[in-house]
Amino acid sequence: MVLEDDLKAAVRTIPDYPKPGIMFRDITTLLGDARAFRRAVDQLVHPWAGSKIDKVAGIEARGFILGGAVAHQVSAGFVPIRKKGKLPHQTVRMAYALEYGTDEMEMHVDAIAKDERVILVDDLIATGGTAEGAVKLLRQIGANVVAACFIIDLPDLGGAAKLRAMDVPVRTLMAFGGH
Ligand code: AMP
Repeated sequence: MVLEDDLKAAVRTIPDYPKPGIMFRDITTLLGDARAFRRAVDQLVHPWAGSKIDKVAGIEARGFILGGAVAHQVSAGFVPIRKKGKLPHQTVRMAYALEYGTDEMEMHVDAIAKDERVILVDDLIATGGTAEGAVKLLRQIGANVVAACFIIDLPDLGGAAKLRAMDVPVRTLMAFGGH
């Protein structure tokens, strides 16, 4: 597919970063390419172009960059989901699975009203532990999670399948095999 090849060429791969065996998919090159950045944002939201979206939730930190652009594109508000201890007002918190152990993410308790339609955004989905935690957090405060959007899918790690099993439609623009 032309679009996928085009955008894929804008992603830089760094082998063995941050540790041996990991192929790090670096989207800073895509973000730095005006045409690729615009195209990625347009394509991410394409299925929801005509529907009403109240909020876009972005996962720290690369999800903030994409999520802000996506929110602007669909005329929605933006909500940050952050690592614990960073948000100043009252928060709700959710544990999520990391490769070794767990961590916690937070959002402001009043960031989203009950039944608001929300799109979740991050750069990449791997095992899906991070996105699963974010969906649970959003649902905990009553959000209607309409979709989760990622530029990159690592399908061998099963994250997108995990989200779909939670009844969350998943949109990704390209896939890479392996880790
Ligand atoms: P996961 O919770 O396993 O789905 O991991 C997703 C999070 O880890 C995302 O926020 C990604 O930015 C980051 N991540 C995981 N694997 C990679 C990779 N191979 N290259 C770049 N970022 C990654």
